[in-house]
Amino acid sequence: MDSEKRIADKQDWIKGATGDWEIIIGLEVHAQVLAKSKLFSGASAEYGGAPNDHVSFVDAAMPGMLPVINEFCVEQAVRTGLGLKAQINEVSVFDRKNYFYPDLPQGYQISQYKQPIVGEGVVSVDLEEGKSISIGVERLHLEQDAGKSLHDQHPAMSYVDLNRSGCALMEIVSRPDMRSADEAKAYVTKLRQIMRYLGTCDGNMEQGSMRADVNVSVRKPGAPFGTRCEIKNVNSIRFMGQAIDYEARRQIGILEDGGKIDQETRLYDAKKGETRSMRSKEEAHDYRYFPDPDLLPLKLDPRRIAEIKASLPELPDEKRARFVASYGLSRYDAAVLVVEQSSAGFFEDVAQGRDGKLSANWVINELFGRLNKEGKSVETSPVSARQLGGLVDLISAGTINGKIAKDVFELLWTEGGEPAQIVETRGLVQVTDMAAIEKAVDEIISVNPDKVEAVKAKPSMLGWFVGQVMKTTGGKANPQTVSDLLKKKLAIT
Ligand code: ADP
Ligand code: MG
Repeated sequence: MDSEKRIADKQDWIKGATGDWEIIIGLEVHAQVLAKSKLFSGASAEYGGAPNDHVSFVDAAMPGMLPVINEFCVEQAVRTGLGLKAQINEVSVFDRKNYFYPDLPQGYQISQYKQPIVGEGVVSVDLEEGKSISIGVERLHLEQDAGKSLHDQHPAMSYVDLNRSGCALMEIVSRPDMRSADEAKAYVTKLRQIMRYLGTCDGNMEQGSMRADVNVSVRKPGAPFGTRCEIKNVNSIRFMGQAIDYEARRQIGILEDGGKIDQETRLYDAKKGETRSMRSKEEAHDYRYFPDPDLLPLKLDPRRIAEIKASLPELPDEKRARFVASYGLSRYDAAVLVVEQSSAGFFEDVAQGRDGKLSANWVINELFGRLNKEGKSVETSPVSARQLGGLVDLISAGTINGKIAKDVFELLWTEGGEPAQIVETRGLVQVTDMAAIEKAVDEIISVNPDKVEAVKAKPSMLGWFVGQVMKTTGGKANPQTVSDLLKKKLAIT
């Protein structure tokens, strides 16, 4: 689709003094490739380490050193491209992007310019209320990360840490298809989810393994695109949202005052909640790109691409669709379950051969709820899928009701054990003896004549009676049975 033609939902328009405005957003996401070693050297790509622990002669740009491409990193880029339903280019070229900066010992970054490894793709992004939109991906290319200057180690000198220097990055460039901060946040979240499924990037924004350059412009609804500003290196999804909203209002303010937007690079200051200018287009670098003479064009074997494609895991969209179709879940519940592969796997272990909706309810509401509250994940869950499955079996079989099941869940969580055994040794089996239930019902009715009068006028009071009967049966009666019986005896319809 032509990006310019997509008009924001009215609810996302911004009211200005001169009328409504739309925000236009395009993102350049830098994702660090999950790999043991760097893109062109054998040095470790692991996060952390003492400064300059992970630096080879290539990364330090010693004279005469030659880059050797890391096949695994290339395959990770191909995997990611396939996951983004993108065109994989069998031939791509590495270029030198020349600029001077103290954390860049070579004096250039090896990147891909005119011929990237991955071309156009598309990401489907879910918004609230079941709405989904497609965000176009323009390209994905491979490039080297830079090192880091350290200014706080010595009063009069700056140091440089080259641990990151040469690590493989995938730069994923979107089309200017997003129209609100929420859409941009949802897009980055989805990209991260897909890459985690693929195992190509851990998406850890706090550690900098994923960060975004955020391009923002504004226009009157449906008008041609305006001039954009680029906010560099945003490293949290929340900050990105704040930066977009701030930047859009800044630009609207300038335009409504009769000014014009200068294309420039800006920084977001999270403490102050504002963006500020870093450099303008006039100062923009001329990178003098040219093909790196040390590296031949990269040629991919189509059979290898096909193998990688065949090895892809089931991705979030497909998994969600399958959960809806085969377990009868709502799209919303299915989306919650597939957020991570591990939670989806846990659910499937519980739901295997059982009622899908009931299993999903227990996994989402009881288990995830509790895990969240205690800062745990499914990997560290005290209750296993097998235990939870056993609990679901007892509910399905009518052995225990939902209320008792919550008590059993609590016991599983705190003490462990087998659900069936817990129910048996603690005598929690649901009372199915109709005579016993009827006796309890009759008793409550006979000692509460005033309430009996009241419930006839106000049937919603029935809940009180159900509660009383449940109490006298130690919570073990089936609430539905109790309710039906009460209705019959009290002649309430
Ligand atoms: P450059 O090569 O100068 O960085 P690109 O054409 O590659 O420019 O665009 C970079 C990013 O800017 C892309 O993500 C694109 O979607 C986004 N972009 C382009 N035009 C606009 C615009 N008018 N408003 C917002 N974002 C834009
Ligand atoms: Mg760019």
